[in-house]
Amino acid sequence: MRIGIGYDIHELKEGRTLVLGGVTIPSNTGPLAHSDGDVLLHAISDAILGALGKGDIGMMFPDTDQANKGRSSVEFLGKVSRIMDEEGFCLGNLDCIIITESPKIALYSEQMKHIIGKILACDREQINVKGKTAERLGKIGAGKAIEAHAAVLLQKK
Ligand code: ZN
Repeated sequence: MRIGIGYDIHELKEGRTLVLGGVTIPSNTGPLAHSDGDVLLHAISDAILGALGKGDIGMMFPDTDQANKGRSSVEFLGKVSRIMDEEGFCLGNLDCIIITESPKIALYSEQMKHIIGKILACDREQINVKGKTAERLGKIGAGKAIEAHAAVLLQKK
């Protein structure tokens, strides 16, 4: 068995599209990023790569590469999932936290789990996605940033 942790943060700006866990969510603000800035999928990708001892998504999909501009993070996690499979591992379980003042994550967590489960070829029961607010503290509390953490357990197939 292997464990991994992942973390991501993006600044939120008006007029950007908010995508979380592959779900497009109505919002006045969205992440400032080279890709679609999906903090949840970035944290999960990093957690899996970490468990495999394969570095991180910044190394795999550099933001200096024009090919990654505006790219869907579903593709990033898809590539990470293929690497996990090639290395002979499958998902044991995955737990995640999204820290943001809005939207309410519980409204979208089932949809996110469905998308993530499809990409990682596992059941929804192996995935947990929860939301927390920052209690109005700091940049996240002011609605100027969004953060995600992920912890993953991989099992040898
Ligand atoms: Zn990111």
